Amino acid sequence: MELRSDTRVGSEYDGSHLGRFWRSIWSCNSPHKIRHFAWRACRDVLPTKENLVKRKVLSDSCCDECKLAEETSGHLFWSCQRARDIWSLSSLFQESWVQLFGSFMDMLWYVVMVAQWEWEHSDVEKLIVVAWALWSNRNECRNRGVKKSCQALLQGALEYLDAYQACVVELGNPKQPVEPEHRLAGVGILIRDAEGHLIGACSKKLEAPLGAIEAEAKAVELGLLFARDLSIQDFTLESDSLMLINVLQDLSPPPSSVAALVYSLVAMSHSFRCVDFSYVGCNGNRPAHLLARHALGIAELSVWVEETPCFLEQALKQDVVATFID
Ligand SMILES: [Zn+2]
Repeated sequence: MELRSDTRVGSEYDGSHLGRFWRSIWSCNSPHKIRHFAWRACRDVLPTKENLVKRKVLSDSCCDECKLAEETSGHLFWSCQRARDIWSLSSLFQESWVQLFGSFMDMLWYVVMVAQWEWEHSDVEKLIVVAWALWSNRNECRNRGVKKSCQALLQGALEYLDAYQACVVELGNPKQPVEPEHRLAGVGILIRDAEGHLIGACSKKLEAPLGAIEAEAKAVELGLLFARDLSIQDFTLESDSLMLINVLQDLSPPPSSVAALVYSLVAMSHSFRCVDFSYVGCNGNRPAHLLARHALGIAELSVWVEETPCFLEQALKQDVVATFID
């Protein structure tokens, strides 16, 4: 991958705690689509009317439900009367009832990170599934579906979660351990500044039974760790795995084999000032490909900082980037 310097404003949440926050959300005992919903809602990428206006899809961001305010994630999931009625019926919020949350992330951050004494993890799971049901019914209503009563919505959501958890317990005996097939993968990482000068390069051999997307995800992880070692804060991280980039850009849900790793990559990316993920076609990755191939012949890891590995010099005169090879 290439890590290119760039400047932009970072996240307001403390990066050192974000990992714990995302792990807590990701460890919820609930269906994958519900956790994915929570992730999207926290990152404020749900198509709320506010976001659709920002994307110039709609011109009016007024909440359909109460018509009293802009439909932001904070309004939809917290301050709108519909949300208030549902939360009040659920008795999930007790002492936190007086809080004002500006966004879904604020709300979840509060219950997971601030009010832990009050919030069992199972209550966080309930909160998320109810928020998901609220969002789903809101979408049904926008498509001329039926608006559920608060009671029906709440009950339906909690029963759905119960049914899922009961089913997980039943199937819960550990999977047969799978004998890992021994495979090697090489990972190549290049870091260049905005002018294209090489800042650092790294080759690493991975001894793991990795599929293509797992190896790419590991390459991204190494890239992030390498950038952290070099104290680079703003960069574009490129990969030639379109599937992985789509997942990192939140355009598609992660395949379950890499979901946990992807969520931790996203958490890690929040600890930098700004990371953009972008896709680069196979032609763009020759130097990184050479680094990855080099990795297969080394003991474990080679790193170059402010020097160019000789086998790369020619390739670097062309353009860019990263990959794994096996
Ligand atoms: Zn409203």
